[in-house]
Amino acid sequence: MRCPPPFGRRILTKMNERLEQIRKLLGELELEMRSGAPAGDRDFSALELPLIIQQIVDDLQPQLTPYVAAFYWFLFRHSIAKDGDPHLRVSTRHLRTAVVKSSYSQLEENPVSLGKVQETLRALESIGAIRKEGEPNRDGTLYRVMIPDEIEACRRYRAEQVSAEPELKFHFSGHDEDLKRENRIKVFERDSYICHFCSKQLTRLTATVHPVKPIAKGGDNNLENLVTACLECNATRNKRTLQSSQK
Ligand SMILES: [Zn+2]
Repeated sequence: MRCPPPFGRRILTKMNERLEQIRKLLGELELEMRSGAPAGDRDFSALELPLIIQQIVDDLQPQLTPYVAAFYWFLFRHSIAKDGDPHLRVSTRHLRTAVVKSSYSQLEENPVSLGKVQETLRALESIGAIRKEGEPNRDGTLYRVMIPDEIEACRRYRAEQVSAEPELKFHFSGHDEDLKRENRIKVFERDSYICHFCSKQLTRLTATVHPVKPIAKGGDNNLENLVTACLECNATRNKRTLQSSQK
């Protein structure tokens, strides 16, 4: 078997890092949700949480410093990911302790000043990742957390990435506009949320659809061409397609 050229290897490394990060985030969210309110409160099919998380990793995070990104993730997890409501009232005082304490942020500055927290919130506001709603009260300020589709800077960033490195934007789950949400759910339900390749039991947070015949090779988004796959199997098969297309 021939090795892919260096350009291909670089893309594969990036894809692996990205996949690892998405997998970790979804795993953590799933744990939090199990311990939280009943799942009936949340409509995952409407939320498209796995897709939103992929888009945050792909299109928003690269534009933020790790510090600012940690705050965004905190706000996202306590609003949209928690109960589907993008609104969240927070005080800078609360944020200062909560974000630093949270296990998923590796903030080097500890403790942080209130001024630094305010500066971070302003940075998120200026890129359009959060929006102030109404006047602050004694419990803090009401923010609306935005998702990448609603953030102009993310749409611009995505367009630039697609033209710079088309290979990076591979068919994952739902990046294809033609693949309607209802069709994905149909595929998952037909396959009982079990990975077609490794038989792992999946959930709406971890299941992805995978085209049996690659889209790049003329495969389509008909239900017969789609199977349920876990993130790992989906990525492994995408890599093979990528490598074979470079030979
Ligand atoms: Zn699998």
